[in-house]
Amino acid sequence: MIPSVDPPRVVVWQLTPPRAPGGSLRPAARDPLELTARERRQVVRALARSRARPPVVLAVGDPAERPDFDAIVEQLVDRGFPTVIAPGASVYLSSRAIRHWADMGVAGVALKLDGATASAHDRFAGAPGTYAATLVLARATVARGMRLTVRSMATRFSAPELPGLSVMVAKLSATTWVVQFPIPRGRLARSLPMGAPRQARVVAWLAACAAQAPFEIMALGAPHLIRLTHPKPDGQTVPAIRDGQGLVYIDHRGQVCPSADLPLSAGSAVQRSALSLYRDAPLFRSLRDPARLGGRCGTCVWHAVCGGSRARAYAATGSAWAEDPHCLAQWPS
Ligand code: SF4
Repeated sequence: MIPSVDPPRVVVWQLTPPRAPGGSLRPAARDPLELTARERRQVVRALARSRARPPVVLAVGDPAERPDFDAIVEQLVDRGFPTVIAPGASVYLSSRAIRHWADMGVAGVALKLDGATASAHDRFAGAPGTYAATLVLARATVARGMRLTVRSMATRFSAPELPGLSVMVAKLSATTWVVQFPIPRGRLARSLPMGAPRQARVVAWLAACAAQAPFEIMALGAPHLIRLTHPKPDGQTVPAIRDGQGLVYIDHRGQVCPSADLPLSAGSAVQRSALSLYRDAPLFRSLRDPARLGGRCGTCVWHAVCGGSRARAYAATGSAWAEDPHCLAQWPS
């Protein structure tokens, strides 16, 4: 049975072409096909036609490279969307930007932090000074009364940093820690992602951490965390956020996809509300339908609330409905 369709818990809107994880801090090259300012206004107007007001995360390399960035924020805030800004790199920003966003009514800021120490983070970021800059922005965010989200990559290189990072997330008074397990795509196939057994150990550690942490933990790319944090998959369990389930992603060209890592489009957010595509488009409906899942995910008792990473299944097999190859659980069907 397809679960009832609640609005997504988060809309991620990538305003500028994304940088590759672990790549240069410089913003990615502009894309001639990215949305115009007029089209971006249409995206917000289409979103606002729905009654739902989920948080909208604006992912942007450097907000200064977008002359209409403030106008987009104002439009979203005016229409009642809790708006979160996720800048690509802290080195481009100062606490003046944080004050400005707070004055505009921004609800939160999501900052990248991939190491618990300056040397570890700056090595991963590839630029000295980013750790210190991030801490300045994080403290300014909390001081201005906005919600702070810390975003960390869980790669084969950064995994040893996670325990120290969890301490930092608490010290910074963040409300949410987003831990992203990268999907092997392109040149990342051989470099960043950890193997399945190691990922299982890291997910188990995250579950233990979640039991006592003063912040929420969201494991992107590892929805099976939910089977360790909940006693059983009953009707009361809120499904984990994964590609197309609780999450809708608008890319910088306006295409509405299940996530940044699952490049299948359900249509254009300029022509139709991303919220309505999330609710009704066949792509999204089938990704949320446990009966469509294959392999172990198809017979797993957790499939309605976990469902596995559809992006990892797609990257591994070419089918977004195949089993998640990184879940090692042997659950009875
Ligand atoms: S088998 Fe699939 S649905 Fe079941 S816990 Fe693992 S990833 Fe989730």
